[in-house]
Amino acid sequence: MEIKSFNFCPNCASKNISFDYRKFNCNDCNMVYYQNVATATAVILRKGEEILFTVRNREPQKGKLDLPGGFTDPDETAEESCQRELKEELNITTPLENFKYLLSQPNNYEYKTIPYKTCDLVYEVTFPIGTELAIEEDEIAEVKWININEINLDEIGFVSLRKAVEYYINNQ
Ligand SMILES: [Zn+2]
Repeated sequence: MEIKSFNFCPNCASKNISFDYRKFNCNDCNMVYYQNVATATAVILRKGEEILFTVRNREPQKGKLDLPGGFTDPDETAEESCQRELKEELNITTPLENFKYLLSQPNNYEYKTIPYKTCDLVYEVTFPIGTELAIEEDEIAEVKWININEINLDEIGFVSLRKAVEYYINNQ
């Protein structure tokens, strides 16, 4: 996986560098850097027959439907990541034990020309009734509650989440 903006070895400044599968190599000083797969989470928030989608307010996939979630932080569990992202993005407070694991899907996430490979862990949680949503506006343009029978999968930006939602709909 070539990273086009990596032009020099960060250790010895050589331009004699190469990329393979998920590894950066310097052919002069033998430095190796692994561009490892990152863990990310996504949450299907369920309220009756509806799921909450966010509309992305930034690239990649700006304007497309998304699920709440994001990259896991260092030293954080996937469930803690779900809990933190719901709080940050929507001001939703949910106990850790309420998150039910659904499935994982690989994804590509390109940010400012750097290609990241992720493994998205998808969880389901019931929307806590009475919660007043507060949207993190630099990331989210708006939220949409969509009936599970009326979801247009093509409007979901990321392939991983499109597949996850399709699986969820088909396994009710
Ligand atoms: Zn080097």
